[in-house]
Amino acid sequence: MIESALNPAQASFRHVIPAGEPWIGTVRQGQYFRILDLEGNQAVDTLFYRADTLEERYSATDTIRAQGNIYLTTGTALLSNEGNAMLTIVADTCGRHDTLGGACSAESNTVRYALEKRSMHSCRDNFLLALAKWGAQYGKDFSKRDLSSNINFFMNVPVTPAGKLTFADGISGVGRYVEMRADMDVTVLISNCPQLNNPCNAYNPTPVEVLVWD
Ligand SMILES: [Zn+2]
Repeated sequence: MIESALNPAQASFRHVIPAGEPWIGTVRQGQYFRILDLEGNQAVDTLFYRADTLEERYSATDTIRAQGNIYLTTGTALLSNEGNAMLTIVADTCGRHDTLGGACSAESNTVRYALEKRSMHSCRDNFLLALAKWGAQYGKDFSKRDLSSNINFFMNVPVTPAGKLTFADGISGVGRYVEMRADMDVTVLISNCPQLNNPCNAYNPTPVEVLVWD
């Protein structure tokens, strides 16, 4: 548990992402980026891209291999598919974040829960919608090929001794946060998880806040 010395009142950017909604934004090299769990026990599905291209992006496999640990916390360098540090986690009052569980989707809702859950909102749909709108500004047609394995900030996905993943009740709480220093200009794509069928957000999606300091 490492706390940050940065004061939210001095942040250069603050935005509350409503429960279940996507957000996309840019963080410049050297800036600090915090995600704040406002009401506790929320899952924040996140992807990072090099800001001027979607070709270089966060790589869960490279990040896990480099640090020799499947969980993310203070000190973790979030590596790209080209082996470059994109951001480094510099403060963390939750203590552990998942990068194995992936993003919920219409398909996973159907397989894990029930056929009638197929139409429910999902992180994958949030990602695709935000990417498509964002790309349209630049005349680019971003789609599912631009998605990769994501980070689930604040989500508790313990691996059992048998090697299985479990979606457990969260270990985050009101006001917990994770803070990163950007090591390159990055585009941040977030789905503030709308999931209602597992305890990743206590069956009750809630808002989170993103903050940036220069
Ligand atoms: Zn989700």
